[in-house]
Amino acid sequence: MNAEITVLLIEDEPQIRRVVRAVLEGEGYRVFEAESGQRGLIEAGARKPDLLIVDLGLPDMEGVELVRELRSWSEAPILILSARVEEEDKIVALDSGADDYLTKPFGVGELLARARALTRRRLRTQENGHRVAFGEVEIDFSRRSVSRNGEPVHLTTLEYRLLCVLAANPGKVMTHRHLMREVWGPAYSESSHYLRIYVSRLRQKLERNPAEPEHFITETGVGYRFEV
Ligand code: CA
Repeated sequence: MNAEITVLLIEDEPQIRRVVRAVLEGEGYRVFEAESGQRGLIEAGARKPDLLIVDLGLPDMEGVELVRELRSWSEAPILILSARVEEEDKIVALDSGADDYLTKPFGVGELLARARALTRRRLRTQENGHRVAFGEVEIDFSRRSVSRNGEPVHLTTLEYRLLCVLAANPGKVMTHRHLMREVWGPAYSESSHYLRIYVSRLRQKLERNPAEPEHFITETGVGYRFEV
């Protein structure tokens, strides 16, 4: 099923490369490897992978630098692998343009779930840019309308804008700072309490059970993730 999906793995530890390659190939992904940042940039340009998996601690450059460089010319989703567990490290990596984050040691199931979410998103946005459906909800971007079980849902301008930013990036962890900037503008990038209030309103209006959200997921200390 994933025969056409290519993954570039940029990681200096051979043992991790072996495991990740085996797991992904087992699911039908085509995997290319690079053991350094420089090599990774060359391979990324040559292979045009559908997904990049990037280790933060590379011998020749910081993973975050690599992500910034990649982002200057590629929109392919980037999944970070790292032994660092600090929230600040996650935030810096995500703000530099990475899409998601896995902390070592990670489970095989978790790796596959993230890879699926990030590549699915890419395929879907290519297929259909006008509508997103999740749970009981459908968003029609061309008509700026939102419905739930076929009934129109009224959202304020800011609620709709936040929904659009989240829904345009399914599977991606978006930091508080990034969401605040996108929805409220740069001057508000530190006031993340607004964000909590608005996410809670979206949950009230669009989740089946707002107390146990399935679509507007909290990433503790980091931000939010939208799941279809
Ligand atoms: Ca490393």
